[in-house]
Parts: sequence; structure tokens; C-alpha cells
Amino acid sequence: MGSIRLENVSKRFGEHAVIPGIDLEINEGEFVVFVGPSGCGKSTLLRLIAGLEDVSGGRILIDGDDATEKPPAKRRLAMVFQSYALYPHMSVRNNIGFPLKMANVDKAEIDRKVEDAAKILNLTDYLDRKPRALSGGQRQRVAIGRAIVRNPECFLFDEPLSNLDAALRVNMRLEISELHQTLNATSIYVTHDQVEAMTMADKIVVLRAGNIEQVGSPLELYKKPANLFVAGFIGSPK
Ligand code: ADP
Ligand code: MG
Repeated sequence: MGSIRLENVSKRFGEHAVIPGIDLEINEGEFVVFVGPSGCGKSTLLRLIAGLEDVSGGRILIDGDDATEKPPAKRRLAMVFQSYALYPHMSVRNNIGFPLKMANVDKAEIDRKVEDAAKILNLTDYLDRKPRALSGGQRQRVAIGRAIVRNPECFLFDEPLSNLDAALRVNMRLEISELHQTLNATSIYVTHDQVEAMTMADKIVVLRAGNIEQVGSPLELYKKPANLFVAGFIGSPK
């Protein structure tokens, strides 16, 4: 569960072909990082996969089924954004449980799922606090908790750490990698940070102006960059 296949997926905004056409295979349980400079189409590609944008052409298959026309709620994906988008007036408990409440899940089950997620994320002692009484890293964990309770087959992260300071970023990187090991869900992680890509990915997808320059493991990209752009971006000698 959680495999994703893009077949010639394209996206244009008016005259601007942001993504001319992408083919990509993401395997079940993989941690895939989309990396590339600002404006190259990383967020757009993630939003197409999530169903938050309609494709201009091509197909998106999730677990082998055509999901191109499916609304976001039917795709079993959960998106974690860089701005935490927490509700300031709600406790951590209610923030994490919110998607379940919206889905009319009964209260006992919401409580159980929220407490399980809080345990995984080390938030058990903070469930009754409001977001303003949390650190940046804790807020980011609450946002991840809200994704976890929906039990998705795939997590989509859009630069989730870019608002955090450098030390915290290193910590959260490890936490997200550990979370991936624990939950075993497919993850797609968008970043413009090469270090994040190299340290977190099973598979890196290097994007430039809406095209894939190279797909490979961190080691493959480092040892055999396909071109100077990849070499320069990954920081390997070529
Ligand atoms: P990245 O996440 O890699 O920084 P984006 O996917 O946000 O890049 O943007 C890629 C390109 O698409 C940019 O040129 C951006 O201006 C354009 N773009 C993104 N969203 C829209 C939109 N809703 N309408 C028009 N242009 C957009
Ligand atoms: Mg972006």
C-alpha cells in the first residue's frame, strides 16, 4: 500500500508550463525526496499528487488505481505544510483530533488515536496546551500528529522544517526519519536543502524547471551525477 506512479503528468498555469511532463515511480514504504531550487515546481508536483491541483495532462496511479480524478480526501494521503496551520484557540488534543472529528469518528476512538499519535511524537505531556505555549518543533510535531491520526498510506511533506532554526532542523530531521521507520508509510518530502535530501532519502528526485534531471539513491547521485546541474546541486565533484 502506498505506491504512486506518475505517467506523463503535466501542469500549466495559463501559458506557463510549470511541469511539462513527468514520469515517476514511487514504491511502497519508500522515503522519496523532491529537491531542486526555489520555483522549480516541487510544491506544484506535490499538490498534484495530493489532488489539491488538477493535472493538465497525464495520469496519477495510487496503488495501481487511477486516482487522477479523485478528490484529496479519497487518496489516503496526508500533507504536512511548512506553515503549521494549527488552530490557535484549540488545545493540542483538539488540533490533532480535528480531522477525525470532521469525519464524525466517535469521541472514544478520537481520544485513543490522539493519544497513540502523541506517544509516537512525544507530545503526551502537552495535549492540553494551546499551540502558542509550544516551541516551533513541538508545533511541527502537532501538525504531523494531525496527519498521523488519519492513518494515511502516504505522507506528503512540503518543506516542513524551513521555519525552524538550524539546530532544531537537525533534530526534526532525525525525528521524521524515525517516524518513517515506525509507521512504514510511503513519504514524499519536498525540500530545497541538499543536506536534508542527502541525509533523509531512500530515493532523491532532482527537479529543475519542472523536469526531472535525475532519480537515484543519495550515493548514486553523489557518485554518478547525470550532469553538472545535479553535481553542483548535490555538491559532488564532477
Ligand atoms: P517550488 O515549490 O519548487 O518553489 P512551485 O511549485 O511553488 O515551486 O512553483 C513553480 C512555478 O509555478 C513558479 O514559477 C510559480 O510561480 C508557479 N505557480 C505555482 N502555483 C501557481 C499558481 N497557482 N498560479 C500560477 N503560477 C503558479
Ligand atoms: Mg514550494
